[in-house]
Amino acid sequence: MGLAVAYELCLQGCRPVLFEADDRLGGMAASFDFAGVLLERYYHFHCLSDQAFFELLDELNLQACLRWQETRMGFFLDGRLYPWGSAGAVLNFRRLPLITRIRYLLHAARCLSLRDWKPLDRISASSWLKKWLGEKGYQVLWQKLFTYKFYQHSDSLSAAWIWSRIRRIGQSRRWLKETLGYLEGGSEHWINGLATEIQRQGGEIRLSMPVDGLRPLGSSALGAVELTSRNGVERFDAVISTIPLPLVAPVLANGGADPDLVAQYTAQTSVACACVVIQTSKPITGNFWTNVNDPRFAIPGIIELSNLRPLKPHITYVPYYMPADHPDYARPNGAFINDSINCLKAINPQLEDADILASHCSRYRYAQPVCGTNFLSQLPPLNPLPNIWIADTTMYYPEDRGISESIGFGRGLARQVNAALGRGGPE
Ligand SMILES: Cc1cc2nc3c(=O)[nH]c(=O)nc-3n(C[C@H](O)[C@H](O)[C@H](O)COP(=O)(O)OP(=O)(O)OC[C@H]3O[C@@H](n4cnc5c(N)ncnc54)[C@H](O)[C@@H]3O)c2cc1C
Repeated sequence: MGLAVAYELCLQGCRPVLFEADDRLGGMAASFDFAGVLLERYYHFHCLSDQAFFELLDELNLQACLRWQETRMGFFLDGRLYPWGSAGAVLNFRRLPLITRIRYLLHAARCLSLRDWKPLDRISASSWLKKWLGEKGYQVLWQKLFTYKFYQHSDSLSAAWIWSRIRRIGQSRRWLKETLGYLEGGSEHWINGLATEIQRQGGEIRLSMPVDGLRPLGSSALGAVELTSRNGVERFDAVISTIPLPLVAPVLANGGADPDLVAQYTAQTSVACACVVIQTSKPITGNFWTNVNDPRFAIPGIIELSNLRPLKPHITYVPYYMPADHPDYARPNGAFINDSINCLKAINPQLEDADILASHCSRYRYAQPVCGTNFLSQLPPLNPLPNIWIADTTMYYPEDRGISESIGFGRGLARQVNAALGRGGPE
Protein backbone atom coordinates (compact mmCIF):
# COMPACT_ATOMS: atom_id res chain seq x y z
CA MET A 1 0.00 0.00 0.00
CA GLY A 2 2.88 2.33 0.80
CA LEU A 3 4.44 1.70 -2.62
CA ALA A 4 1.09 2.31 -4.34
CA VAL A 5 0.63 5.58 -2.41
CA ALA A 6 4.12 6.78 -3.33
CA TYR A 7 3.68 5.77 -6.99
CA GLU A 8 0.35 7.57 -7.30
CA LEU A 9 1.76 10.67 -5.55
CA CYS A 10 4.52 10.72 -8.19
CA LEU A 11 1.89 10.58 -10.95
CA GLN A 12 0.14 13.50 -9.25
CA GLY A 13 3.34 15.56 -9.44
CA CYS A 14 4.53 15.17 -5.82
CA ARG A 15 7.96 14.01 -4.63
CA PRO A 16 7.23 11.46 -1.93
CA VAL A 17 9.73 9.96 0.50
CA LEU A 18 8.92 6.35 1.40
CA PHE A 19 10.11 5.14 4.82
CA GLU A 20 10.32 1.33 5.13
CA ALA A 21 11.28 -0.30 8.45
CA ASP A 22 12.33 -3.58 6.81
CA ASP A 23 15.57 -4.12 4.89
CA ARG A 24 13.50 -4.81 1.73
CA LEU A 25 10.33 -3.56 0.08
CA GLY A 26 7.02 -5.42 -0.07
CA GLY A 27 5.88 -6.04 3.53
CA MET A 28 3.77 -9.21 3.51
CA ALA A 29 4.46 -9.61 -0.21
CA ALA A 30 8.27 -9.40 0.11
CA SER A 31 10.54 -12.22 -1.06
CA PHE A 32 13.64 -14.02 0.20
CA ASP A 33 16.26 -16.34 -1.24
CA PHE A 34 14.98 -19.86 -0.65
CA ALA A 35 17.56 -22.44 -1.71
CA GLY A 36 18.55 -20.32 -4.71
CA VAL A 37 14.97 -19.36 -5.72
CA LEU A 38 13.56 -15.91 -5.02
CA LEU A 39 10.31 -16.77 -3.24
CA GLU A 40 7.65 -14.81 -1.38
CA ARG A 41 7.80 -15.19 2.40
CA TYR A 42 4.03 -15.78 2.32
CA TYR A 43 2.01 -17.52 -0.41
CA HIS A 44 0.16 -15.32 -2.90
CA PHE A 45 -2.36 -15.89 -5.68
CA HIS A 46 -4.42 -13.47 -7.75
CA CYS A 47 -8.12 -13.60 -8.57
CA LEU A 48 -10.00 -12.71 -11.75
CA SER A 49 -11.60 -9.76 -9.91
CA ASP A 50 -8.26 -8.10 -8.96
CA GLN A 51 -8.89 -5.06 -11.16
CA ALA A 52 -6.55 -2.59 -9.40
CA PHE A 53 -3.70 -5.07 -9.73
CA PHE A 54 -4.30 -5.57 -13.45
CA GLU A 55 -4.32 -1.79 -14.03
CA LEU A 56 -1.01 -1.44 -12.25
CA LEU A 57 0.53 -4.29 -14.25
CA ASP A 58 -0.59 -2.54 -17.44
CA GLU A 59 1.04 0.71 -16.36
CA LEU A 60 4.26 -1.07 -15.42
CA ASN A 61 4.21 -3.03 -18.67
CA LEU A 62 4.09 -6.32 -16.81
CA GLN A 63 0.70 -7.59 -17.99
CA ALA A 64 2.37 -10.26 -20.15
CA CYS A 65 3.82 -11.87 -17.00
CA LEU A 66 0.40 -12.62 -15.49
CA ARG A 67 -0.61 -16.26 -15.93
CA TRP A 68 -3.89 -18.02 -15.16
CA GLN A 69 -4.19 -21.60 -14.08
CA GLU A 70 -7.12 -23.90 -13.36
CA THR A 71 -6.57 -24.95 -9.76
CA ARG A 72 -7.96 -27.67 -7.53
CA MET A 73 -8.89 -27.72 -3.88
CA GLY A 74 -8.81 -30.60 -1.42
CA PHE A 75 -10.03 -31.32 2.08
CA PHE A 76 -7.97 -33.46 4.46
CA LEU A 77 -10.40 -34.67 7.10
CA ASP A 78 -9.50 -37.17 9.83
CA GLY A 79 -6.68 -38.76 7.88
CA ARG A 80 -8.37 -38.87 4.43
CA LEU A 81 -7.98 -36.57 1.46
CA TYR A 82 -11.20 -35.58 -0.34
CA PRO A 83 -11.64 -33.45 -3.47
CA TRP A 84 -13.24 -30.09 -2.61
CA GLY A 85 -14.15 -26.73 -4.11
CA SER A 86 -16.28 -27.67 -7.13
CA ALA A 87 -20.04 -28.30 -6.98
CA GLY A 88 -19.46 -31.95 -7.95
CA ALA A 89 -16.88 -32.46 -5.20
CA VAL A 90 -19.17 -30.93 -2.58
CA LEU A 91 -22.12 -33.09 -3.66
CA ASN A 92 -19.92 -36.21 -3.46
CA PHE A 93 -18.63 -35.38 0.02
CA ARG A 94 -20.30 -38.23 1.93
CA ARG A 95 -18.99 -37.15 5.32
CA LEU A 96 -21.98 -34.81 5.57
CA PRO A 97 -25.69 -35.45 4.92
CA LEU A 98 -26.86 -34.54 1.41
CA ILE A 99 -29.03 -31.75 2.76
CA THR A 100 -25.95 -30.10 4.36
CA ARG A 101 -24.03 -30.35 1.07
CA ILE A 102 -26.91 -28.69 -0.77
CA ARG A 103 -27.11 -25.98 1.89
CA TYR A 104 -23.37 -25.38 1.44
CA LEU A 105 -23.82 -24.82 -2.30
CA LEU A 106 -26.83 -22.57 -1.74
CA HIS A 107 -24.76 -20.49 0.67
CA ALA A 108 -21.92 -20.21 -1.87
CA ALA A 109 -24.46 -19.02 -4.47
CA ARG A 110 -25.93 -16.54 -1.97
CA CYS A 111 -22.45 -15.10 -1.37
CA LEU A 112 -22.13 -14.43 -5.10
CA SER A 113 -25.52 -12.74 -5.44
CA LEU A 114 -25.46 -10.69 -2.21
CA ARG A 115 -24.76 -6.97 -2.70
CA ASP A 116 -25.71 -5.20 0.54
CA TRP A 117 -23.19 -6.49 3.07
CA LYS A 118 -23.88 -3.86 5.77
CA PRO A 119 -26.38 -6.05 7.71
CA LEU A 120 -23.68 -8.77 7.85
CA ASP A 121 -21.33 -6.36 9.64
CA ARG A 122 -23.56 -6.70 12.71
CA ILE A 123 -23.62 -10.49 12.97
CA SER A 124 -20.91 -13.04 13.61
CA ALA A 125 -19.49 -15.25 10.86
CA SER A 126 -20.03 -18.37 12.99
CA SER A 127 -23.74 -17.68 13.63
CA TRP A 128 -24.29 -16.79 9.95
CA LEU A 129 -22.57 -19.96 8.74
CA LYS A 130 -24.41 -22.11 11.31
CA LYS A 131 -27.70 -20.67 10.09
CA TRP A 132 -26.88 -21.70 6.52
CA LEU A 133 -25.05 -25.01 7.09
CA GLY A 134 -26.43 -26.26 10.41
CA GLU A 135 -24.34 -27.04 13.50
CA LYS A 136 -22.73 -30.20 12.05
CA GLY A 137 -21.94 -28.57 8.69
CA TYR A 138 -20.30 -25.63 10.46
CA GLN A 139 -18.31 -27.94 12.75
CA VAL A 140 -16.87 -30.03 9.93
CA LEU A 141 -16.34 -27.33 7.31
CA TRP A 142 -15.51 -24.12 9.15
CA GLN A 143 -14.91 -24.41 12.87
CA LYS A 144 -11.37 -25.77 12.65
CA LEU A 145 -10.40 -23.22 9.98
CA PHE A 146 -11.45 -20.39 12.29
CA THR A 147 -9.96 -21.93 15.44
CA TYR A 148 -6.54 -22.38 13.88
CA LYS A 149 -6.45 -18.90 12.51
CA PHE A 150 -8.21 -16.79 15.12
CA TYR A 151 -8.23 -18.84 18.35
CA GLN A 152 -10.18 -16.88 21.03
CA HIS A 153 -11.51 -14.48 18.38
CA SER A 154 -13.14 -17.23 16.27
CA ASP A 155 -16.71 -16.62 17.42
CA SER A 156 -16.62 -12.85 17.07
CA LEU A 157 -15.52 -12.51 13.41
CA SER A 158 -17.79 -10.44 11.23
CA ALA A 159 -20.02 -12.24 8.71
CA ALA A 160 -19.31 -9.43 6.21
CA TRP A 161 -15.59 -10.24 6.29
CA ILE A 162 -16.06 -13.98 5.61
CA TRP A 163 -18.66 -13.18 2.93
CA SER A 164 -16.14 -11.06 1.01
CA ARG A 165 -13.53 -13.86 1.18
CA ILE A 166 -15.94 -16.53 -0.06
CA ARG A 167 -17.16 -14.22 -2.83
CA ARG A 168 -13.64 -13.36 -4.03
CA ILE A 169 -12.70 -17.02 -4.55
CA GLY A 170 -16.18 -17.89 -5.85
CA GLN A 171 -15.90 -15.20 -8.54
CA SER A 172 -12.50 -16.44 -9.69
CA ARG A 173 -13.93 -19.09 -12.01
CA ARG A 174 -13.91 -19.67 -15.75
CA TRP A 175 -16.59 -22.03 -17.04
CA LEU A 176 -17.32 -22.77 -13.35
CA LYS A 177 -13.72 -23.98 -12.80
CA GLU A 178 -11.61 -22.28 -10.13
CA THR A 179 -8.98 -20.22 -11.94
CA LEU A 180 -6.24 -18.40 -10.04
CA GLY A 181 -3.39 -16.22 -11.19
CA TYR A 182 0.31 -15.82 -10.52
CA LEU A 183 2.96 -13.50 -11.81
CA GLU A 184 6.02 -14.93 -13.48
CA GLY A 185 8.89 -13.88 -11.24
CA GLY A 186 6.49 -13.50 -8.29
CA SER A 187 5.58 -10.32 -6.41
CA GLU A 188 9.20 -9.15 -6.53
CA HIS A 189 8.53 -8.32 -10.18
CA TRP A 190 5.83 -5.67 -9.59
CA ILE A 191 7.45 -4.46 -6.35
CA ASN A 192 10.70 -3.72 -8.22
CA GLY A 193 8.70 -2.17 -11.06
CA LEU A 194 6.99 0.21 -8.65
CA ALA A 195 10.23 1.10 -6.87
CA THR A 196 11.93 1.88 -10.19
CA GLU A 197 9.03 4.10 -11.31
CA ILE A 198 8.91 5.96 -7.98
CA GLN A 199 12.62 6.73 -8.11
CA ARG A 200 12.55 7.60 -11.81
CA GLN A 201 9.85 10.18 -11.12
CA GLY A 202 11.77 11.88 -8.32
CA GLY A 203 10.51 9.96 -5.29
CA GLU A 204 12.89 8.63 -2.66
CA ILE A 205 12.95 5.24 -0.94
CA ARG A 206 14.64 4.71 2.41
CA LEU A 207 15.02 1.11 3.60
CA SER A 208 15.67 -0.01 7.21
CA MET A 209 14.22 3.34 8.26
CA PRO A 210 11.29 2.93 10.70
CA VAL A 211 9.27 6.03 11.49
CA ASP A 212 9.33 6.54 15.26
CA GLY A 213 7.16 9.62 15.74
CA LEU A 214 4.66 11.91 14.00
CA ARG A 215 3.57 15.36 15.19
CA PRO A 216 1.27 17.77 13.36
CA LEU A 217 2.52 21.36 13.58
CA GLY A 218 -0.34 23.38 12.15
CA SER A 219 -3.27 23.18 9.83
CA SER A 220 -2.26 23.73 6.22
CA ALA A 221 1.22 25.22 6.02
CA LEU A 222 4.04 23.66 4.02
CA GLY A 223 6.14 21.35 6.18
CA ALA A 224 3.15 20.84 8.45
CA VAL A 225 4.15 17.47 9.94
CA GLU A 226 7.22 16.64 11.98
CA LEU A 227 8.46 13.09 11.37
CA THR A 228 11.06 11.41 13.59
CA SER A 229 13.27 8.53 12.44
CA ARG A 230 16.85 7.39 12.86
CA ASN A 231 17.75 10.36 10.65
CA GLY A 232 16.41 12.77 13.28
CA VAL A 233 13.48 15.15 12.81
CA GLU A 234 12.29 16.18 9.34
CA ARG A 235 9.31 18.19 8.13
CA PHE A 236 6.86 17.09 5.43
CA ASP A 237 3.76 18.75 3.95
CA ALA A 238 1.71 15.65 4.74
CA VAL A 239 2.23 12.08 5.93
CA ILE A 240 0.32 9.01 4.79
CA SER A 241 0.94 6.06 7.09
CA THR A 242 0.32 2.56 5.71
CA ILE A 243 1.87 0.55 8.56
CA PRO A 244 -0.39 -1.89 10.49
CA LEU A 245 -2.75 0.14 12.73
CA PRO A 246 -1.52 -1.31 16.07
CA LEU A 247 2.00 -0.07 15.18
CA VAL A 248 0.65 3.46 14.71
CA ALA A 249 -0.08 3.78 18.44
CA PRO A 250 3.54 4.25 19.64
CA VAL A 251 4.33 6.50 16.64
CA LEU A 252 1.48 8.87 17.56
CA ALA A 253 2.21 8.63 21.29
CA ASN A 254 5.83 9.68 20.63
CA GLY A 255 4.49 12.73 18.82
CA GLY A 256 2.39 13.68 21.85
CA ALA A 257 -1.05 12.67 20.47
CA ASP A 258 -4.12 12.55 22.71
CA PRO A 259 -4.12 9.21 24.63
CA ASP A 260 -7.76 8.60 23.60
CA LEU A 261 -6.74 8.73 19.95
CA VAL A 262 -3.71 6.50 20.58
CA ALA A 263 -5.99 3.99 22.34
CA GLN A 264 -8.07 3.60 19.16
CA TYR A 265 -5.01 2.20 17.39
CA THR A 266 -3.89 0.05 20.33
CA ALA A 267 -7.36 -1.54 20.35
CA GLN A 268 -7.02 -2.98 16.82
CA THR A 269 -6.41 -6.73 17.00
CA SER A 270 -4.33 -8.79 14.63
CA VAL A 271 -3.02 -12.35 14.59
CA ALA A 272 0.55 -13.32 13.77
CA CYS A 273 1.73 -15.98 11.34
CA ALA A 274 4.66 -18.38 11.43
CA CYS A 275 4.67 -19.50 7.82
CA VAL A 276 6.70 -22.58 6.92
CA VAL A 277 7.76 -23.23 3.35
CA ILE A 278 9.04 -26.64 2.32
CA GLN A 279 10.75 -27.73 -0.86
CA THR A 280 10.14 -31.37 -1.77
CA SER A 281 11.17 -33.61 -4.62
CA LYS A 282 7.53 -34.62 -5.23
CA PRO A 283 4.09 -33.04 -4.92
CA ILE A 284 2.06 -33.56 -1.74
CA THR A 285 -1.30 -33.58 -3.58
CA GLY A 286 -2.58 -32.33 -6.93
CA ASN A 287 -4.30 -29.39 -5.19
CA PHE A 288 -3.26 -25.77 -4.87
CA TRP A 289 -5.14 -25.41 -1.60
CA THR A 290 -5.97 -28.24 0.82
CA ASN A 291 -8.07 -27.46 3.89
CA VAL A 292 -6.90 -29.47 6.90
CA ASN A 293 -9.26 -30.61 9.64
CA ASP A 294 -7.20 -33.01 11.73
CA PRO A 295 -6.66 -32.72 15.52
CA ARG A 296 -2.94 -33.50 15.10
CA PHE A 297 -2.18 -30.33 13.13
CA ALA A 298 -2.82 -26.75 14.27
CA ILE A 299 -3.25 -25.31 10.77
CA PRO A 300 -6.19 -24.31 8.57
CA GLY A 301 -4.61 -25.84 5.45
CA ILE A 302 -1.58 -26.23 3.20
CA ILE A 303 -0.87 -24.33 0.00
CA GLU A 304 1.08 -26.03 -2.77
CA LEU A 305 2.37 -23.11 -4.78
CA SER A 306 3.86 -25.40 -7.42
CA ASN A 307 0.35 -26.56 -8.35
CA LEU A 308 -0.36 -22.94 -9.37
CA ARG A 309 3.03 -21.63 -10.48
CA PRO A 310 5.25 -24.22 -12.16
CA LEU A 311 8.17 -24.08 -9.72
CA LYS A 312 10.48 -27.06 -9.41
CA PRO A 313 11.36 -28.61 -6.98
CA HIS A 314 7.87 -28.56 -5.45
CA ILE A 315 7.02 -25.71 -3.05
CA THR A 316 4.44 -26.00 -0.23
CA TYR A 317 3.50 -23.38 2.38
CA VAL A 318 2.19 -24.41 5.82
CA PRO A 319 0.86 -21.37 7.75
CA TYR A 320 0.52 -21.33 11.57
CA TYR A 321 -1.65 -18.34 12.44
CA MET A 322 -2.16 -17.45 16.10
CA PRO A 323 -2.31 -14.48 18.46
CA ALA A 324 1.27 -13.34 19.06
CA ASP A 325 0.85 -13.81 22.83
CA HIS A 326 -0.10 -17.49 22.38
CA PRO A 327 2.61 -19.65 24.08
CA ASP A 328 3.08 -21.66 20.83
CA TYR A 329 4.21 -18.56 18.96
CA ALA A 330 7.34 -18.59 21.14
CA ARG A 331 8.30 -22.03 19.78
CA PRO A 332 11.46 -22.07 17.66
CA ASN A 333 11.15 -22.15 13.85
CA GLY A 334 12.43 -25.76 13.86
CA ALA A 335 9.37 -26.91 15.84
CA PHE A 336 6.99 -25.42 13.24
CA ILE A 337 9.05 -26.99 10.45
CA ASN A 338 8.95 -30.46 12.10
CA ASP A 339 5.19 -30.24 12.59
CA SER A 340 4.81 -29.22 8.95
CA ILE A 341 6.85 -32.16 7.66
CA ASN A 342 4.74 -34.54 9.80
CA CYS A 343 1.59 -32.98 8.40
CA LEU A 344 2.76 -33.32 4.79
CA LYS A 345 3.70 -36.97 5.46
CA ALA A 346 0.24 -37.60 6.93
CA ILE A 347 -1.41 -36.14 3.84
CA ASN A 348 0.91 -37.98 1.46
CA PRO A 349 2.26 -41.19 3.09
CA GLN A 350 4.59 -41.67 0.08
CA LEU A 351 6.63 -38.66 1.23
CA GLU A 352 9.91 -39.69 2.85
CA ASP A 353 12.64 -37.80 4.68
CA ALA A 354 14.82 -37.96 1.56
CA ASP A 355 12.11 -36.04 -0.35
CA ILE A 356 12.47 -32.98 1.92
CA LEU A 357 15.00 -30.77 0.19
CA ALA A 358 14.82 -27.47 2.08
CA SER A 359 12.68 -25.65 4.65
CA HIS A 360 12.26 -22.18 6.08
CA CYS A 361 9.93 -20.35 8.50
CA SER A 362 9.04 -16.63 8.12
CA ARG A 363 7.12 -14.66 10.74
CA TYR A 364 4.90 -11.63 10.47
CA ARG A 365 3.48 -10.15 13.66
CA TYR A 366 0.51 -8.37 12.02
CA ALA A 367 -0.39 -10.98 9.41
CA GLN A 368 -4.18 -10.93 9.62
CA PRO A 369 -6.36 -8.25 11.21
CA VAL A 370 -9.26 -9.56 13.26
CA CYS A 371 -12.38 -7.95 11.78
CA GLY A 372 -15.01 -8.51 14.47
CA THR A 373 -18.73 -7.73 14.45
CA ASN A 374 -19.64 -4.04 14.09
CA PHE A 375 -16.13 -3.55 12.75
CA LEU A 376 -17.05 -0.56 10.64
CA SER A 377 -17.87 1.55 13.71
CA GLN A 378 -14.64 0.56 15.47
CA LEU A 379 -12.22 1.73 12.79
CA PRO A 380 -10.18 4.82 13.70
CA PRO A 381 -10.60 7.85 11.39
CA LEU A 382 -8.62 7.98 8.15
CA ASN A 383 -7.45 11.56 8.76
CA PRO A 384 -7.17 11.79 12.56
CA LEU A 385 -4.80 14.79 12.72
CA PRO A 386 -4.11 17.74 10.41
CA ASN A 387 -2.15 16.59 7.34
CA ILE A 388 -1.78 13.04 8.68
CA TRP A 389 -3.65 10.15 7.02
CA ILE A 390 -3.51 6.67 8.52
CA ALA A 391 -4.62 3.49 6.75
CA ASP A 392 -3.88 -0.20 6.64
CA THR A 393 -5.62 -3.23 5.15
CA THR A 394 -8.60 -2.89 7.54
CA MET A 395 -9.61 0.39 5.88
CA TYR A 396 -11.04 -1.47 2.88
CA TYR A 397 -13.16 -3.77 5.08
CA PRO A 398 -15.14 -5.91 4.40
CA GLU A 399 -12.58 -6.95 1.77
CA ASP A 400 -9.88 -9.12 3.29
CA ARG A 401 -6.25 -7.99 3.12
CA GLY A 402 -4.98 -8.45 -0.41
CA ILE A 403 -2.44 -7.10 -2.86
CA SER A 404 -4.96 -5.70 -5.32
CA GLU A 405 -7.09 -4.16 -2.57
CA SER A 406 -4.06 -2.49 -0.94
CA ILE A 407 -2.88 -1.13 -4.30
CA GLY A 408 -6.33 0.19 -5.25
CA PHE A 409 -6.98 1.71 -1.84
CA GLY A 410 -3.50 3.24 -1.62
CA ARG A 411 -3.79 4.92 -5.02
CA GLY A 412 -7.24 6.31 -4.21
CA LEU A 413 -5.96 7.62 -0.88
CA ALA A 414 -3.00 9.36 -2.54
CA ARG A 415 -5.36 11.16 -4.95
CA GLN A 416 -7.65 12.12 -2.04
CA VAL A 417 -4.74 13.55 -0.02
CA ASN A 418 -3.40 15.45 -2.99
CA ALA A 419 -6.82 17.01 -3.57
CA ALA A 420 -7.17 17.86 0.14
CA LEU A 421 -3.84 19.69 -0.03
CA GLY A 422 -5.19 21.67 -2.97
CA ARG A 423 -2.51 20.41 -5.31
CA GLY A 424 -4.79 19.29 -8.14
CA GLY A 425 -3.83 16.40 -10.43
CA PRO A 426 -1.06 15.77 -12.91
CA GLU A 427 -0.23 18.46 -15.48
C1 LIG B 1 0.31 -15.61 4.91
C2 LIG B 1 -0.24 -14.56 3.98
C3 LIG B 1 -0.82 -14.93 2.80
C4 LIG B 1 -1.35 -13.97 1.92
N1 LIG B 1 -1.91 -14.38 0.75
C5 LIG B 1 -2.37 -13.46 -0.14
C6 LIG B 1 -2.86 -13.83 -1.42
O1 LIG B 1 -2.87 -15.01 -1.76
N2 LIG B 1 -3.31 -12.85 -2.27
C7 LIG B 1 -3.28 -11.53 -1.92
O2 LIG B 1 -3.68 -10.68 -2.73
N3 LIG B 1 -2.84 -11.15 -0.71
C8 LIG B 1 -2.37 -12.07 0.19
N4 LIG B 1 -1.86 -11.68 1.40
C9 LIG B 1 -1.98 -10.30 1.80
C10 LIG B 1 -1.00 -9.39 1.09
O3 LIG B 1 0.30 -9.79 1.24
C11 LIG B 1 -1.22 -8.05 1.77
O4 LIG B 1 -2.56 -7.69 1.73
C12 LIG B 1 -0.52 -6.94 1.13
O5 LIG B 1 0.84 -7.22 1.00
C13 LIG B 1 -0.78 -5.76 2.05
O6 LIG B 1 0.22 -4.89 1.98
P1 LIG B 1 0.21 -3.57 2.85
O7 LIG B 1 1.23 -2.70 2.29
O8 LIG B 1 -1.17 -3.03 2.94
O9 LIG B 1 0.63 -4.04 4.32
P2 LIG B 1 1.99 -4.69 4.82
O10 LIG B 1 2.46 -5.69 3.85
O11 LIG B 1 1.73 -5.14 6.23
O12 LIG B 1 3.03 -3.49 4.83
C14 LIG B 1 3.29 -2.69 5.93
C15 LIG B 1 4.72 -2.20 5.83
O13 LIG B 1 4.96 -1.26 6.87
C16 LIG B 1 6.30 -1.46 7.31
N5 LIG B 1 6.43 -0.83 8.63
C17 LIG B 1 6.00 -1.26 9.83
N6 LIG B 1 6.27 -0.37 10.80
C18 LIG B 1 6.90 0.67 10.20
C19 LIG B 1 7.42 1.91 10.67
N7 LIG B 1 7.34 2.28 11.97
N8 LIG B 1 8.01 2.75 9.77
C20 LIG B 1 8.10 2.40 8.45
N9 LIG B 1 7.61 1.24 7.96
C21 LIG B 1 7.01 0.39 8.83
C22 LIG B 1 6.45 -2.95 7.30
O14 LIG B 1 7.81 -3.33 7.32
C23 LIG B 1 5.75 -3.31 5.98
O15 LIG B 1 6.63 -3.28 4.90
C24 LIG B 1 -1.30 -12.61 2.28
C25 LIG B 1 -0.69 -12.23 3.48
C26 LIG B 1 -0.16 -13.20 4.32
C27 LIG B 1 0.50 -12.78 5.61
